[in-house]
Amino acid sequence: MTNYNLSGKVALVTGGSRGIGRSIVLSLAHSGADVVFTYRSKVDEANALVVELIAMGRRAAAFQSDAANSAQSNEVVQNVIKDFGRIDILVNNAGITKDGLLMRMSEQDWDDVVNTNLKSVFNFTKAVCRQMMSQQSGKIINISSIVGVIGNAGQANYVASKAGVIGFTKSIAKELASRNIQANCIAPGFIETDMTEKLNEKQKEAILTVIPQKRLARPEEVAAVVCFLASADSNYITGQTINVDGGMAM
Ligand code: NDP
Repeated sequence: MTNYNLSGKVALVTGGSRGIGRSIVLSLAHSGADVVFTYRSKVDEANALVVELIAMGRRAAAFQSDAANSAQSNEVVQNVIKDFGRIDILVNNAGITKDGLLMRMSEQDWDDVVNTNLKSVFNFTKAVCRQMMSQQSGKIINISSIVGVIGNAGQANYVASKAGVIGFTKSIAKELASRNIQANCIAPGFIETDMTEKLNEKQKEAILTVIPQKRLARPEEVAAVVCFLASADSNYITGQTINVDGGMAM
């Protein structure tokens, strides 16, 4: 567990009910932050996580909301401001895959992935911006992917969305720097979650051949970097992408 002090901070994490998002939610709470998260469908898992956060002594809430939908995303942010009084940390984590070679990729699969992974980042960042500007501080942390840096056959929609997140982050980092708001990306390699559970044995073997550290990462290894980027220790870092990838992209 990390040792960053986030007491008194309010964090909002999209897609926080499972996988990397869940680990981010728990790590931020362990560091002292009150945490609100969104999820799309799994109500029981979301409710169980809220109970766990409250048992840790944190204020917590979960909203069932589609991150790709701007009206719903705005509503979540307005509710957080109303109920928690502020937003210090935004983690744009919600993401999906709908893989396939370009020749066979449907327009629907393109739109679903780009809207969930990239438009969501626009939705939530725009919605929290005004509040962070009035607080004169804020941390925006966007979960991209290492394939957004290096490309990947069979994932044109996903890679485009994740590369888009990196470009978006650099632009808003420049726009918001003078307001004491830092925006950075994390580009995870392969992490043990439901998303990578979908891969077959042959795909997993092929992946291990391109990871110098020869293993997948645990979600906590991404969450630790989120806590660093959410803390005052990273105040002079903005517009950057930190690869958490076991050495894949060097
Ligand atoms: P999971 O599939 O394990 O979890 C996804 C989470 O996002 C769930 O909480 C899910 O909610 C939520 N979610 C999905 N769609 C929406 C939506 N439209 N609105 C709100 N919430 C949504 O994914 P991971 O934990 O593996 O991935 C998390 C992030 O990390 C993603 O952005 C992914 O692209 C990125 N990433 C993952 C890697 C990996 O190897 N796993 C590698 C690189 C990047 P619900 O439970 O209700 O469905």
